[in-house]
Amino acid sequence: MTGAATLLRDVFGFDAFRPGQGEIVEAVTAGENVLAIMPTGGGKSLCFQLPALMREGVTVVISPLIALMRDQVRALQEAGVCAGALTSGNTEEETDDVWNALEAGKLKLLYMAPERLAAGSAMGMLRRVGVTMIAVDEAHCVSQWGHDFRPDYLRIGELRRALDVPLAAFTATADADTQAEIIQKLFDGTPPRAFLRGFDRPNIHLAFAAKDSPRKQILAFADARRGQSGIVYCGTRAKTEGIARALREAGHGAIHYHGGMEAEDRRIAERRFQQEDGLIVVATVAFGMGIDKPDIRWVAHADLPKSIESYYQEIGRAGRDGAPAETLTLFGPEDIRLRRSQIDEGLAPPERRMADHARLNALLGLAEALECRRKALLGYFDETEVTCGRCDLCDSPADVFDGTTAVRKALSAMLRTDEWFGAGHLIDILLGNETDKVKQRGHQSLPTYGVGGEYNRNEWQAIFRQMMGRDLIRPDAERHGALRMTDAALPLLRGETSINLRRDTIKAAGVARRPAAKAMVSDEDAPLLSALKAKRRGLAEAAKVPAYIIFTDRTLIEMAEQRPANMDAMARIGGVGAKKLESYGAAFLQVINGEAEVMHPTRRKLAGRNAGSVYDRLLEVQATLARGEMGTDRPLSCSASQLAKVAQLHTADDSALLRLLGDRRAERFGAAFLDVLREAG
Ligand code: ADP
Ligand code: ZN
Repeated sequence: MTGAATLLRDVFGFDAFRPGQGEIVEAVTAGENVLAIMPTGGGKSLCFQLPALMREGVTVVISPLIALMRDQVRALQEAGVCAGALTSGNTEEETDDVWNALEAGKLKLLYMAPERLAAGSAMGMLRRVGVTMIAVDEAHCVSQWGHDFRPDYLRIGELRRALDVPLAAFTATADADTQAEIIQKLFDGTPPRAFLRGFDRPNIHLAFAAKDSPRKQILAFADARRGQSGIVYCGTRAKTEGIARALREAGHGAIHYHGGMEAEDRRIAERRFQQEDGLIVVATVAFGMGIDKPDIRWVAHADLPKSIESYYQEIGRAGRDGAPAETLTLFGPEDIRLRRSQIDEGLAPPERRMADHARLNALLGLAEALECRRKALLGYFDETEVTCGRCDLCDSPADVFDGTTAVRKALSAMLRTDEWFGAGHLIDILLGNETDKVKQRGHQSLPTYGVGGEYNRNEWQAIFRQMMGRDLIRPDAERHGALRMTDAALPLLRGETSINLRRDTIKAAGVARRPAAKAMVSDEDAPLLSALKAKRRGLAEAAKVPAYIIFTDRTLIEMAEQRPANMDAMARIGGVGAKKLESYGAAFLQVINGEAEVMHPTRRKLAGRNAGSVYDRLLEVQATLARGEMGTDRPLSCSASQLAKVAQLHTADDSALLRLLGDRRAERFGAAFLDVLREAG
């Protein structure tokens, strides 16, 4: 597929496909029906955008969110692709432009919200304008049982039947039920060619920490990442405002966001986050769907998410551009208590509640993991081939100890008090503290009274938390949160198994370790990277587009490291396509080298290709022959476009040169040019 590789390079500015993209692009281009499941940030958009350029006619893209469509259209236009959207958010002028481009047969990608399909005229219109393919983004929105159901997505199947063109569906949600529903609703039950990409996001660093003055922990994490875009997820609306304020007081750009805000305020917050460089949003989970910012550098959870799926989705918003991104999830016993009671007090039927507990357990297992977090996370998605090296436990292995005796003592304290108490009182019993409550209940006469002196209070709290995390004990809402043993603890109680616990979380309790920031580039390149970012900010503000539309972080990092000296080298930086090279290449070269390279626009079009250096050689040869072999003839030269055509000749011979250059020039330069072409070929 040389055509695809060239477009990938010239339009999108990428050297290679990401894993999986190549096969999908090939199948979609060939007109197969396709269902592709790729993790967020895997690069789904390219899998329909590139085929759209390879194919005749218009590709209609159905996407659930207007903001996302507008961003994609803008990014495509920046890359020189003729794309447009028909949405309710359009200005009249934008809509006119789309129609004109459609009528002129130039439009390649037409983005539409699913609501548009409801209009009776939509199908006829799409047929008339020559739609040859349908791409469906976020295809799981068709699933009635999913979390993002959009009734208008159900019209897509009808659209496919009416147009009778191939359909490519994309989603990051992979469970079997959703897949089956997508196949039913979008493909009338005929299984399309399916592509399932793994769930790993190798550039995202995973870390958990037990809560210990959580606000300080979040501030330390953000301080170590000053100037980078990040999201802090909180469990409550009130907390978002408090943490955002604390971050601002510490000198960060930070705003809050939650579902209780006015729609207009929410839109403003989304917009600012999308456009401003290095802004932090402190939000509830209401924030995220519709955020497509590829350069979010970190995600922190001030509270434990509700399930392993939510965790995966929320951290997945970081680092979509593939550059390193970091995450930190805080958790404590009160989170476990809260999440359990939310499930128990919810209205779901019992089997659903059991499933919810299991999903929470999976996340708690991850939080209390003793080995690689990535293995634990991907294991949940049935992936077993995992290489990591990018999680806190791979960075420094957990210090584990045999906690069997400690756990049995704790269980015994619970059972001897008939499972009516919380961790605080149970720890008093274990430590032998003669509190009023202990005396009132006569608990000082229990055989477990005072048997736990080998650990202090903090350490016992960490043991109880780990017991909750392993689902050996659960708070019982009907007993005001008293801890009760689960069946999972029975083998331990009977002495049939043993259990390892982490010591370092115990030790870390009380010691706020300042998380070290992983610098994005070396010290040496850092000043250049900030200069490049400043340039980007200026250009983005002038054009009123988000910074990443100009170039992503990853592209700037590569520029800072590679320091391209000229347009050719610049063209080889990932993310610098032909159109962007033309628009911004010189400006960024100037930042890197102090002065812009002057280059003929015709020559610039060849930048980064073999023909570029051939062109340069032709120019040299021409200069030596400008006055003929003897230097005595009348000066003669070829135009830039003639040279460019010669440089790009596939089969070079006298007659081709004669055709391109005419008699006089062919006579003077022909032989020398042929030598250049032969050397290069
Ligand atoms: P998804 O929709 O799967 O979450 P996107 O299509 O938004 O992901 O792509 C995520 C990021 O990856 C974007 O910034 C995109 O430009 C970048 N990207 C996509 N394909 C490639 C590639 N082959 N090489 C480098 N970057 C890529
Ligand atoms: Zn790991």
